[in-house]
Amino acid sequence: MTTDLFADPRMGEPFLLTPGPLTTAYSVKEAMLRDWGSWDADFRAMTKSLCDQLVALAGDTKGEFACVPMQGSGSFSVEAMLGTMVPRDGKVLVLANGAYGLRAAETLRVMGRAHTLIDKGDYLPPRGDEVGRVLDADPAITHVIAIHCETSSGILNPVAEIAEAVASRGRKLLIDSMSAFGAVDLDVNRIRYEAMVSSANKCIEGVPGFGFVIARKTALEAAKGNAHSLSLDVHAQWAAMVKTGQWRFTPPTHVVAAFLEALRLHQIEGGVAGRGARYARNRDVMVAGMRDLGFETLLADRWLSPIIVTFFNPAHPNFVFSRFYDLMKDKGFIIYPGKLTVVDSFRVGCIGRMDEAIMRRVVQAAADSLSEMGVNSAAPPAAALAERAKLAA
Ligand SMILES: *Cc1c(COP(=O)(O)O)cnc(C)c1O
Repeated sequence: MTTDLFADPRMGEPFLLTPGPLTTAYSVKEAMLRDWGSWDADFRAMTKSLCDQLVALAGDTKGEFACVPMQGSGSFSVEAMLGTMVPRDGKVLVLANGAYGLRAAETLRVMGRAHTLIDKGDYLPPRGDEVGRVLDADPAITHVIAIHCETSSGILNPVAEIAEAVASRGRKLLIDSMSAFGAVDLDVNRIRYEAMVSSANKCIEGVPGFGFVIARKTALEAAKGNAHSLSLDVHAQWAAMVKTGQWRFTPPTHVVAAFLEALRLHQIEGGVAGRGARYARNRDVMVAGMRDLGFETLLADRWLSPIIVTFFNPAHPNFVFSRFYDLMKDKGFIIYPGKLTVVDSFRVGCIGRMDEAIMRRVVQAAADSLSEMGVNSAAPPAAALAERAKLAA
């Protein structure tokens, strides 16, 4: 990968080292410089192309899956998937190890669907055997929702072993692959699931404005009438699209146009494997550089996703996160605050239109920012390392 691809005119924008919205290619932004009629055949063809390409990315070659785009941010699509795929008398096991798992549980609570929780805290992964034990003990559970990459810590959860535990007990798996789909394998031929959800502004590198559910057609057919909501009804949106080729309500036309350009760049890069490989290089270069400065990651290498990485704040008394943030921003890089409850941390995203050369500049900016703050060691407090030791236990 040459850096030329990433040498787009940046117009003074900082790089977004965040898990979406993220830094997009110039051509993706440029694709929005035109208006489309939502009912027009040209736009209907764009919607169809988008859906066909996403189903192909999921590995479906037998026509068993459909893609249903849904207006709104990613959470709207999670809510639509849960409310549509889970019957009103169903019960969901939520696998939580961070903010997005807890949000799924909260979504079910608000819509009044029965659910139960395995809560692993900030970052411990839910494992297949414990999921199996809970399913064996509670035959009322019909569905399980897992978070693929829990973006609050950056942990890549073991969805393959979870899928096996769920399928072998005849239950149905829903996956929030918001921050992983397009860069981490979620092939329907290798991992059995009923439906998954992602959005335009994560690993496909589009701009925000819609999410999408990729679901088994048999499950979609069976889901008619389940939804708690008029607009967040995946079945109704799917049925309308099959019939008319149109979205039920005003579609984010410019966002769809940008997304098609983002999909074109995704394909040029080598699809899921190529995109995942660039993100993994971004992570490896960035993590190695940060560790050289004395920073420590929350997670052991085994659990580090190529999406976003959590670092402990240095223990040095001169380190103040808000100042570090501002100094990084002055140098052209927007980082992300941490979301852990026990120890202070911050996050650096690896996704978006950036390559390893840019990640080296991120590390240099971190080094310069530390020295401007008078922090001569980025080592975390002992309590942080003690917390991390629990992950290995
Ligand atoms: C980004 C994200 C979401 C959706 O968040 P929105 O702010 O609604 O787009 C859901 N789950 C995960 C794991 C995410 O990373």
